[in-house]
Amino acid sequence: MTTFICTACGTQYPPSDAPPANCPICQDQRQYIPASGQRWSTYDEVRRTHRAAFQRYEPHLLGLGVTPDFAIGQRALLVERAQGNILWDCVAPLTDATIDLLRALGGLRAIAISHPHYYTTMVEWAHAFDCDVWLHEDDARWVMRPDARVRTWSGETRSLGDGVTLIRCGGHFAGGQVLHWQDGAAGNGALLVGDVVQAVPDANFVSFMWSYPNLVPLPASAIDKIEQALAPYAFERLYGAWWNRSTVEDAKNVVTRSAARYREALTRVLL
Ligand SMILES: [Zn+2]
Ligand SMILES: [Zn+2]
Repeated sequence: MTTFICTACGTQYPPSDAPPANCPICQDQRQYIPASGQRWSTYDEVRRTHRAAFQRYEPHLLGLGVTPDFAIGQRALLVERAQGNILWDCVAPLTDATIDLLRALGGLRAIAISHPHYYTTMVEWAHAFDCDVWLHEDDARWVMRPDARVRTWSGETRSLGDGVTLIRCGGHFAGGQVLHWQDGAAGNGALLVGDVVQAVPDANFVSFMWSYPNLVPLPASAIDKIEQALAPYAFERLYGAWWNRSTVEDAKNVVTRSAARYREALTRVLL
């Protein structure tokens, strides 16, 4: 049976004969319905019209995506570990080439996704690799295709074993999570953030928003929460959600500096 995918956000819906009436992910103010209206594709079609794209970022970290970009245009990351690989974030078209490559690399032990904009076809990936998807329970209401493989966790952190930890930062979404990889950046720690923390053109800063497409900022209390959530973790490098301009060095200091700048901007008095 056909599964429909929203072409604006990449979210896949349960099998159906006709497209869903609407896409709640796009109706939310953190996304948008395009001016041209709600459009749908199918899982078969997006697999047919996209090719796999890969990029090596550092040893044991591989970017996974498609060309041309689809929907929001993010790419996923594969953390390769002897104890089992972890997929961070997701893209809608899961191509045969991607399946072959991942199987050759040992498959997947788990999938974790930063926030609902990247849930896309997570159920397809989970079934293809016979593994669970870990989401924070505060975002459970945004799961458009429930499945036994989609699991939620509660609280502030959850270990995926062997130095990989999910950290709830909130902000962009209440359950927005990042992944701390202790062995990343040559053992200095790496943080995989989706757009819970946003890499920006200036590599000396990152930023944070409640709605990126619609430019709605977060309150200072949310910035405090993100900083506090990350405080116990060392990380030299940060990886955002995009192919380009998304790798940040000296990342711990960059996040601290950026949080301070953001708070200052929220209270600035223009003369
Ligand atoms: Zn959508
Ligand atoms: Zn987002």
